[in-house]
Amino acid sequence: MQTYKFISNNIESTLLIGSDLGQLLQRGDVITLTGDLGAGKTTLTKGIAQGLGINAPVSSPTFTIIKEYQQGHIPLYHFDLYRLGESALDEDLGYEEYLYGDGVCVIEWSQFIAELLPEDCLNITINHRGSEESEREIQFSFKSQRWEPIIKELMNKCGI
Ligand code: ADP
Ligand code: MG
Repeated sequence: MQTYKFISNNIESTLLIGSDLGQLLQRGDVITLTGDLGAGKTTLTKGIAQGLGINAPVSSPTFTIIKEYQQGHIPLYHFDLYRLGESALDEDLGYEEYLYGDGVCVIEWSQFIAELLPEDCLNITINHRGSEESEREIQFSFKSQRWEPIIKELMNKCGI
């Protein structure tokens, strides 16, 4: 497992990290987002959507669970499993078709479908940091070598 940390000082910085990452993604990529309510998971997803060329507004799919965006150069499937919690696996939402499909999956509260997740996913954990309300630590961790050049390029792009 390799881990890299980024610091975001404000919403714009989180959106930019997301957008830079979005530009580096390929079909089949799966990204899990971990962090408390209000950590910035949906904000980061908005940035990823921008980077994929999606102009439509992205909001949290808490009630729909999975939202599809087809406007970019790769489809984005945005999951938010918060509302289903431990019962997420009881629902037949076709998770695997998304996870092994033709787009990018970004999954909030992915722990509820942990056993379905591919080994080569990119895990992103967002935590509050410091005394400033808008400061976040964004941690990237992964097992697959696929992500190393991407995260290194992201660090260069973000000037870290
Ligand atoms: P989550 O999806 O993790 O519940 P959201 O992205 O919906 O979180 O909300 C994050 C909240 O925190 C928003 O109100 C956003 O304006 C605020 N915020 C403040 N600073 C940051 C930051 N650096 N990165 C992301 N969000 C931030
Ligand atoms: Mg959210």
